[in-house]
Order: sequence, then structure tokens, then C-alpha cells
Amino acid sequence: MGEQKTAIVTGGGSGIGKAAALKLAEQGYRVALFELKEERAREVGEFIDSSGGTYMIENVDVSNEEKVASGIRHVFEKWGRIDVLFDNAGINGTIAPIEEMEASDWDHTIQTNLKSTFLLVKHAIPYMKEVGGSIIITSSINGSRTFSNIGFSAYSSSKAGQITFMKMAALELARYKIRVNAICPGAVDTNIGQNTEEKGNLDKVRIPVEFPNGDKPLENAPGNPEQIADLVYFLASEHSSHITGTEIYIDGAESLL
Ligand code: NAD
Repeated sequence: MGEQKTAIVTGGGSGIGKAAALKLAEQGYRVALFELKEERAREVGEFIDSSGGTYMIENVDVSNEEKVASGIRHVFEKWGRIDVLFDNAGINGTIAPIEEMEASDWDHTIQTNLKSTFLLVKHAIPYMKEVGGSIIITSSINGSRTFSNIGFSAYSSSKAGQITFMKMAALELARYKIRVNAICPGAVDTNIGQNTEEKGNLDKVRIPVEFPNGDKPLENAPGNPEQIADLVYFLASEHSSHITGTEIYIDGAESLL
């Protein structure tokens, strides 16, 4: 209980979620890691603990309403407040030409990335509306500014849907002083490739896109999770108190090619 702020971080065991969890813990938040892969979350939690921070782990599949609802309830029961929801867990899912993508692959990606956003926000509202707070959704440049990632039609649709949902939620929840924003990273060096499956003949439909010196104008390399975590911390904090309903691109101009 008490006045120390609390943050839920989904996909907190790896990549962007891990970096954000460490950043928020370092900045004094109690951090609840929602993860499918508990082992990964455990390592992050132990690191937070050894640095003097406070954490808890909930084994939550973010596309499962019961798990989401009980996970959020457990955080509130343990800490008495929820200030920040970083809705970040997501997958690339199956990458395939539209003609060859199975409906079940489409459903899995949409449920993991988009339905989860609705579920997390829905079940966080009853607790967050008591004190206000910040919801940050990890979308992507894909689906809003970049459309050349051939094979990513389900992924990009989920990421575009998250932005529209974010804007609806920002207006609806402003009365509760809950801010809702989305971050749109370009390529970031994480473990996301591990949950990516390629199907069918992608070369048949691929379009080559190349900048003269590679496809990353600013640094000619993917971003790193810590750069994204700095933005998450900014959006979580009072430094962004007048920002809501906005998507912020963090991609070194990759999506402007
Ligand atoms: P990552 O694979 O390193 O981390 C994602 C974590 O989410 C993993 O630990 C995974 O176990 C967890 N997860 C997956 N499905 C889950 C589920 N159903 N329930 C609970 N946890 C689940 O990937 P990342 O790159 O850090 O991805 C985080 C977010 O960033 C995703 O939403 C992704 O779409 C987005 N993103 C990533 C990039 C990139 O280039 N890495 C670019 C733009 C957006």
C-alpha cells in the first residue's frame, strides 16, 4: 500500500518491456511484470530486487480475459493502487502473403496484440480511475506510417487498431485523468524474432525498400530497448502531463523512407 507509484508492464520479461520495467523500477515505481514466460520475468524481477526495487510477477496471457482481470486485481490487492499500465506484450505472429495466411494465424496475432489492449485497458480502468494515471501502448511504425513490410498484414492491422483504440480511450478516460498514448518504434534489437514464423512464398510479393546507406537513416542500426524505455518513462511521468491521445514515433526516421 502507501504512496509509492505502481506500474504494470506486459511482456516485462524481454526486450522493450524488460528495459521499461528496469527504468520504471529505477525511477521508484513498484513494477508488476505480466509475462507468458515466467522464467524471463523472474530474471528481470531478481535484477529489480537486487537494485533495491519492488516487483511482482503475474503469469498472464494478455489475450486471456480471465488472466488479465485476475492479474490486475492481484496488483491492486497487493499494492493498493495502479498508476501506470504499459501495454507492451506482442508478437509478430505469422508472416505470410495474404493469399497464404491462415485465418487462425490472423486471429492469433490480432488477439495477442489488439484484443489484449482492449482487455488490459478495460480491466485497469476501475482501479486507475481512482487516482488517474498513464496508459502507454506499444504500437509500431507498421500499420500507421510504414506499409512496405510485406507479409505483416495481420501484425500491421493489429498495430493500427491499437492507435485508433488509444485515441478513443484517451477521450473517454480524460474525465478520470487517465492519459492514453501510443509509442511507435521502428526496428528495435529484442527477442521478437523468436516468435515469428514465415509461411508461404514471401519473395513473390516482397517490395525492396532501401535507403542509400541501409534502411535506418539516423544511426544505420536498429534502436535499442533502453532508448524506448526512456520514452516510456517520460510518458509515465508528470513530465508528459499534457500529452494524451497521441502516437509518438521513435524510429530514427526509418518510417519516413
Ligand atoms: P520480445 O519478444 O523481446 O518481448 C515480448 C515479450 O512479450 C516476451 O517476453 C513474450 O514472452 C511476451 N509475450 C508474448 N505474448 C504474450 C502474451 N500473450 N501474454 C503475455 N506476454 C506475452 O519483443 P519486443 O520487441 O520487446 O516487443 C514488445 C512490443 O514492441 C511488441 O508489442 C512489439 O510488437 C513492439 N514492437 C517491437 C519492435 C521491434 O523491432 N522489436 C518494433 C515495433 C514495435
